[in-house]
Amino acid sequence: MNEPNQVMLKDDVLVGADLDAWLAHGGGEGLARALQAPDAVMAEIERADLRGMGGAGFATHRKWAPVAAAPRGDKWVICNGNEDEPGTFKDRFLLEHTPHQVVEGALIAAVATRANHVVLYVNPHQPRALAAAREAVRQWRGHAHFASIEALLGGALSLSVVESSGLYIGGEETAVIATVEGGFPFPRRKPPFPAEHGVHGAPTVVNNTETLAHLPGILRHGAEWYRGLGLGHASGTKLYSLSGDVLRPGLYELPMGTPLEELVFVHGRGMLQGKEFKAVFTGGPSNTLLTRGDLDVPLDFDSVRDRRSRLGTGAMIVVSEGTSIVRKVAEYVNFFAQGSCGQCPPCKGGTFQLARVLNRIDTGRGVRSDLASLANLCRLLPGSGRCGLIDGAATVVESSLHHFMHEYEALLMG
Ligand code: SF4
Repeated sequence: MNEPNQVMLKDDVLVGADLDAWLAHGGGEGLARALQAPDAVMAEIERADLRGMGGAGFATHRKWAPVAAAPRGDKWVICNGNEDEPGTFKDRFLLEHTPHQVVEGALIAAVATRANHVVLYVNPHQPRALAAAREAVRQWRGHAHFASIEALLGGALSLSVVESSGLYIGGEETAVIATVEGGFPFPRRKPPFPAEHGVHGAPTVVNNTETLAHLPGILRHGAEWYRGLGLGHASGTKLYSLSGDVLRPGLYELPMGTPLEELVFVHGRGMLQGKEFKAVFTGGPSNTLLTRGDLDVPLDFDSVRDRRSRLGTGAMIVVSEGTSIVRKVAEYVNFFAQGSCGQCPPCKGGTFQLARVLNRIDTGRGVRSDLASLANLCRLLPGSGRCGLIDGAATVVESSLHHFMHEYEALLMG
C-alpha cells in the first residue's frame, strides 16, 4: 500500500487563507527560486514531466513555451477553477484549503512565461473557494515577491479573481478566455490556440488549478524529487476524486500511476454492501469506461490511454453490480444535454436525442431499434462540434453499449 504523498494534502500545509502560515510552512520558497533563475523554470518543469491535470494531460512546459517565446507585452496566465463536472471535486478543495499554494503556482507560471496578467477563474457556485481565492490574491499583492515579479517584467503585474459563469461549458479553455474578456462562455474552434490568440488576442496560458498547485513543490524541492514521487514511468502525484459505490469515497493524493485496484479496494475500502465491482467512469463521465479487466491499470495518463480511455481530471466514479449502467449513462448524458451551449446544431440536437433515447430505455419504454439509434448517433456526432462536449457524450454511450449491451437489452420492452 502506498501512503499519500506530501505535495498538496499534508495536514500541516492546509493553512487556509493565511499567507503567513503558508510561508511558515515553506510556502514562497518555490517562487523565490523561480525569481532567482527565471529562465531555468521552464527546463525544471520539463524535467519534472508535469502534465496538465484538467483533462488532456498535455505537457505543461510545452503549453507554456509559445507564450514564453512571445515578445514582451500583454500575456495572460489563467488558473482554471471552474470545475463543474460530476464526480470531480479536487480544484474546489485546493482553492478552499490551500489557496496560497495555487496563487504561488500561478505566479511561478507568470515568471516562467513573463505574463503580466494573472487571473484565478473560480466557479461562483463554490462560494468558499471564491472567498479564499479573493483573500489569497489580496494578501499576495502586498508580498515582496509580487514587487520582484514586477521588476522582472519591467512593469505592472495584475493579479485578480474572475468569476466563471458556473456553467459546465465555462471550463473549456476558449470559453474561459471568452468569460475573462467579459463575454458569454461560448467555446470556439482551435486553432488558433490560446497560446497564440488568447485574452483580447494576447498569448495566454490556461492551466488547471491542480497543475498550478504542483509548481511550488517542484521549484522548492526540484524536478528529481517530484519525478521520484510517481510509480513506474509516471511522475509526481495526482489528486483522485473517488466517488460512487465505494465504502470510503473522498479525495486522495497518491503517486501518479497508483493502480486502480489499490485506489478502489485499499484507499476506498472496497465496494458498498460487499457487492462486486462492475466499472469506473474514469476522468469524469465523458470517457471510455474501465471494467473489471482494467483493475490493474496504473492510473497515469499514458497507461489509461493505452486502455483506450483517459485519466482526465482523475475523477473515478465507481459502479457496483447493484447499480444500473444505463441509468448512470442516462444521468450523465442528460447533464451534457443541459450543458450544451447550443452553438452547434449537431450538439444541441444530438445530445438531446441521446438523452431522450437513454431515458426511454432506462424507464422500460425502449425498443430494439433504440439501440441502433444510439449506435448511429455515436458514430455521427463526434467531431461535429466546436468543442469536446459532444464527443464526450458520444464516447460514454458507445463505451457502455460495448461493455454492457446485455443491460440495455434487459431493459427493452417485449
Ligand atoms: Fe457548444 Fe456543444 Fe458546440 Fe461545444 S460542441 S461549442 S457545447 S454546442
